[in-house]
Amino acid sequence: MELIYVLIALFAGSIGSIGLAALMLLLPDKQLNRYSGWLMYLAGGTLLGAAFLGMIPKALSLTGSSNVFLFILIGIVLFFLLEKIILWRSCQHEDCDRARNAAVPIILIGDGVHNAIDGIVIAASFLNSVELGVFVTISVMMHEIPQELGDFGILLQSGLSRTKALLLNMLSGATAIIAGVLAYFMLESMQALIPWALAFSASSFIYIALADLIPEMHRKTKLSESIVQLAFVIAGIALIYGFMSHH
Ligand SMILES: [Zn+2]
Repeated sequence: MELIYVLIALFAGSIGSIGLAALMLLLPDKQLNRYSGWLMYLAGGTLLGAAFLGMIPKALSLTGSSNVFLFILIGIVLFFLLEKIILWRSCQHEDCDRARNAAVPIILIGDGVHNAIDGIVIAASFLNSVELGVFVTISVMMHEIPQELGDFGILLQSGLSRTKALLLNMLSGATAIIAGVLAYFMLESMQALIPWALAFSASSFIYIALADLIPEMHRKTKLSESIVQLAFVIAGIALIYGFMSHH
């Protein structure tokens, strides 16, 4: 029964996010920018909320070991390194804007790796509780839709047709399903790994929020937009907090 939830969540988080991003491309530019911005701001809050209010407390209560924090720290350094390697391979010169200079295969491979990690995060959280799983899946979708929108932009600009861009993006999203199903079976037979998988998941969420989403938000400096950003981030955290304190 639980595997069904995980499969639905994995499809929603990967192929579903990509499909919704593709649908949003039909919107006029102005609305597209606004809505994908809001989703990104909200994701900043839900990712941090899910990590600090959901995953880390669960991992701690399962192990009772403060090594959970060491593990999170190692995870953050690994994600830094992983992103660096992707940048090194895509940028030949200094001051490289990773969104503009990344070639098609780099986008797809980098995305594939990231989506695989999202898949593991979803599986690990469902094995802990269905409620945590649902909120983690929502957090994944809210950061994936704007991310995939950006990827579509790059793929289309580099000359791919709409159909090909959609298919390739879906293919790189499918890694989430494969990795998630593998993680589900591995973690189910090795329950002792679940708290560590949660800690690893938390480090991935913290890294995405603080190293990817927040710098992106700081590119907009207008006061009104900053207030909107803060409101969405707090709303995202409040959403997870309100939910976690009821379960
Ligand atoms: Zn993601």
